[in-house]
Amino acid sequence: MRAVVVEEFGVEPTVVERSDPVPAPDGVVVAVEVTGLCASDRFAWRGHDAGVVTPFVPGHELVGRVVAVGGEVRWARVGDRVTTPFVQGCGRCGACAAGRAQVCPDQEQPGFTHDGSFAELVALRYADTNLVAVPDDLDGGGAALLGCRVATAFRAVVDRGGLRAGERLLVLGAGGVGLAAVLVARALDAEAVVVDPAPEARRRALALGATAALDPSIGPDGVRDALGSGGARVAVEAAGRADSLALGVRALRTQGTLVQVGLLASEPTVPVPEVVARELHLLGSHGMAAADYPRLMELVASGRLDVAALVTRRIGLDDAPGALAASPVPGEVVVIEP
Ligand SMILES: [Zn+2]
Ligand SMILES: [Zn+2]
Repeated sequence: MRAVVVEEFGVEPTVVERSDPVPAPDGVVVAVEVTGLCASDRFAWRGHDAGVVTPFVPGHELVGRVVAVGGEVRWARVGDRVTTPFVQGCGRCGACAAGRAQVCPDQEQPGFTHDGSFAELVALRYADTNLVAVPDDLDGGGAALLGCRVATAFRAVVDRGGLRAGERLLVLGAGGVGLAAVLVARALDAEAVVVDPAPEARRRALALGATAALDPSIGPDGVRDALGSGGARVAVEAAGRADSLALGVRALRTQGTLVQVGLLASEPTVPVPEVVARELHLLGSHGMAAADYPRLMELVASGRLDVAALVTRRIGLDDAPGALAASPVPGEVVVIEP
């Protein structure tokens, strides 16, 4: 098979021929139809993820067809169209048994703990716990994003933030997760106010249905004014920036909740005195377990959540190394079709 291989952190990878993967007894091999180019792929490529060792194949956000099945797998069949949460829980521990595979202590992650989906084929572990069926008629570009950015946004907004219809969500960072959070809020009949320093990203957020898109230089008072009701009851930080996190905390209303999903390259300074005095909640969110996908898939199937609308550019595998190594274009969501 052909695959994008990172030999050295921060150096543009190459497309090379590799032997086809074989499934683990509890796993499958999937022919990759589409795979997303996510911010955390760049995070790993730069060497910011302590668990990643070179050489490796990036990619963790995919849709494709099962082409080989391990002997212990019960429900997957050759030909099934599937995606998977980027966190693949082991299926055997207490967290997995409780439906919380996204925090499984023995988790695998394609593109991080083993070779990922910037390739014609990818091996996925623990198939019975992690595979999610994808309808044949769903656009592949949108379907790939269900593996990471859309699911991450859905769980952060719905399960961790508890956003309700009629509320205004604060979204910090209009990259893939932030833009997906805008779509999720709209699908729930809620509104989204977005903060991002890049005008192109703000335009993209407005085009996807955000109520307002603000430059962070407006400051916490300006953000709170745009939100009304004394600030955000729920905010999602998806930029992975310390200043954005601090702005989000300060723009919360009393007893509000900020859900952190953006990955930070170093430990941020957080305005903890505000967290204490105004009883704020600061939560983390880490993908979403396959057990929690049915509500998301229903929202997609109903047409209320148009995941394909997120995709701005589709490229082939040969263009993937350059796209990975390039500076991200604000508001752009790139998918790769190997
Ligand atoms: Zn587990
Ligand atoms: Zn991702």
